[in-house]
Amino acid sequence: MLRSGLSWTRRRLRVAARRHGSLALVLALLPLAAGCFASKRVGYQDRPVGPDVAGPISAAEPVDLRVALGEQLAKQRITCTGPYRISSGLYDETILDLDAGDSTSAWCLQGRVMYANALQGGRLDWLVAEPRDPDHHMLWDGRSWRGALHVIVCPVDSASVTVLNVVDLEDYLAGVVPLEIGRGRPESERAAVEAQAIAARTYAFAKLDARRGRGFDLYADTRDQVYGGADVEDPVATAAVSATAGLILRHEGLPASTFFHANCGGHTVAKDAVWPVPPDPLLRGVRDTRPDGRPWCADGHGAQWREQWTWSDLESVLQRSLPAYMNYVENGSGKAWASDAFRPATAGADGRRPGQLRDLRVAETSPDGRVAVLEVVTTSGVYRVRGGRIRWVLRSGGGKFTLLRSTLFDLTVADGRTATATGRGHGHGLGLCQDGAVARARAGEQSRDILEHYYPGANLGPIVASDLP
Ligand SMILES: [Zn+2]
Repeated sequence: MLRSGLSWTRRRLRVAARRHGSLALVLALLPLAAGCFASKRVGYQDRPVGPDVAGPISAAEPVDLRVALGEQLAKQRITCTGPYRISSGLYDETILDLDAGDSTSAWCLQGRVMYANALQGGRLDWLVAEPRDPDHHMLWDGRSWRGALHVIVCPVDSASVTVLNVVDLEDYLAGVVPLEIGRGRPESERAAVEAQAIAARTYAFAKLDARRGRGFDLYADTRDQVYGGADVEDPVATAAVSATAGLILRHEGLPASTFFHANCGGHTVAKDAVWPVPPDPLLRGVRDTRPDGRPWCADGHGAQWREQWTWSDLESVLQRSLPAYMNYVENGSGKAWASDAFRPATAGADGRRPGQLRDLRVAETSPDGRVAVLEVVTTSGVYRVRGGRIRWVLRSGGGKFTLLRSTLFDLTVADGRTATATGRGHGHGLGLCQDGAVARARAGEQSRDILEHYYPGANLGPIVASDLP
C-alpha cells in the first residue's frame, strides 16, 4: 500500500509540476473546462469537438497510467532497445546505467525486489527501468513498451512480483485502439477509430486508481482494455489518438461509462437490462439502423450467428453454468435477481445441482427483441436466468464453454435432442457498437456524430487538472 501510495503521489506531483510550468496553457483551457462543468448535457453540436479543436486539446494535462502487464510472477527479465537506467521508485535516484540489450533480472525475495545484471545486483523496494531516450522502448516478454517498466512486490501475496508499464495515457491508447477496433483500418474509417479512441480514453481515465490495492490502475487484458504496447500500433489508430488527444466524454460532470462492444445487431442494450442496476440515461439502449431499417452493423464480422447443442452437450454446459449463476445471484452482484432465480421441483431441491435437463425456453423478450429471461427446466427445478447472464449460462458446447455471442437470438428446441440459437450481434451490447461506428464513418459521419448516437446526453471535453482523483 505504501508503494502504490507513493507511486500515486509521484504522478500527482508530476502533473502539478507540469501544470505550474504551463500556466498559460491551463488558462487557455479554462473556458473549455468551465463549459464542461457549467453546461451539463450540452449536445456536441453546441461545442466544436474532435479534430476541429486539436490546438487546445493537445494542451490537456499529461496523465501517467500504471498498467499491469503481469501479476504474481516469478523471476522476470527486462531490457531495452537503447541505453536505459535502473532507479529506485522510492527516491528516483539512478542506481546504474545500462546499454542497449543489457538484460536485468528481477524477482521477489522476502518481500523485496531483487535485481541482477552484468554490472551488479541488489535489492530494492520498487525497481524502475526506463530508456534514456524516450524514442527507445523497454522490452519485456518479447514485446516493446513505451514509457517505463516498474517491478513491484505483488501486494496480493508479497512473494512474487508485478510488472507495470507506467506510460502516458496517449501512448497507452496507441497500444489499445488497434486491438479494440481492429488493426489496419483504412483512412475512410478514421472517424470510428477516433470515436473508439475517445471511448477508450474515457474508460482508462475513469479507472485511475481503481485498483490501488493491487498497485496499479488497469489490467492490460479484457478485464479492462486489451493493450499490446508499441508493437501493435498502426498509423490510423495513432493518428486518431493524436487528433482526439486529451478528450474524454462526461456525463453529469463525471467521466462517462463508455462501454463498447463489437456488434449490437441493430439495437444497443440498456444497462439495466444487462445487470440488476438502476437505469442509466447514458446507456439506455438506442436503435442502430439506417433510414431503410437495416442495421448499421449488418455487414460486420459475426453480425449473424448460429449456435447448436446436442442435448448431452447442453446438459454438461448447464451442469457448470447454472451453479455459477446461482452463485452470482446469491453471493455476487446479481442479488436483486435472487428471488425467482430458482424454483425447486420438490421441497429441498438444490439449485446448485441442476440434475437432468428437461426443457429450455425463452420466457421474456425485451421490446428491442433481446432475450430477457431464459427458463431452464431440469429435474431439480426451474431456473430463470436474466439479462446479460444468459450469455454466461448458455455457453458453447463441445468443450469450448465460451460465452454466447449475444442475447439477441431465437431459440429452437427439437424434441429433447438439440437446441439451436440463431442470433445477431456480438458482445454485451452496451454503448458504442464498433461495427456500426465503422459503417457510419464510411458513410461520412464524424466521431462526434458517432459518439452522440451511442452515448446520448454525454459531453465531450478535455481532461483538466481538477479531474484527477
Ligand atoms: Zn450496431
